[in-house]
Amino acid sequence: MSELINTAHKDNCIFCYIEPNWIIDESDDFVVIRDGFPVTEGHTLFISKHCVIDWFELTVHEQSELNQLIISHKEKLTASDPSISGFNIGMNCGESAGQTVMHFHAHLIPRRDGDTPSPRGGVRWVIPERQKY
Ligand code: AMP
Repeated sequence: MSELINTAHKDNCIFCYIEPNWIIDESDDFVVIRDGFPVTEGHTLFISKHCVIDWFELTVHEQSELNQLIISHKEKLTASDPSISGFNIGMNCGESAGQTVMHFHAHLIPRRDGDTPSPRGGVRWVIPERQKY
């Protein structure tokens, strides 16, 4: 049974309904789940309870709450998995930037030495041909 996590839901929005057993944590304004198609083990999504499109539409209060939630999950992940040696924190804002689910979510992606042969550039890989500088 899916659970409605916000009051301004859109019928076709997959993040307006979250399977309760997928939720690993929540705060006043966000739920936390593991990504269904993880880039790395532990890939975590922070999803707003209110259906807005992206980070720019969050209130300053929500942005601050999100920061604390991300920090707390970074600490939990590193405490439970000593192989984690870095993180990518990502938000795709708009279709042009690669966003596929138009309901705010932030990605926390644990990184481990050797998980890809050449990690240099990190988020610069959004445009692969501009990754090197
Ligand atoms: P974005 O491309 O930034 O909008 O990210 C959407 C994320 O949602 C991707 O990382 C997907 O793997 C993830 N995703 C898509 N469908 C589901 C789902 N049903 N359950 C959990 N995660 C999902």
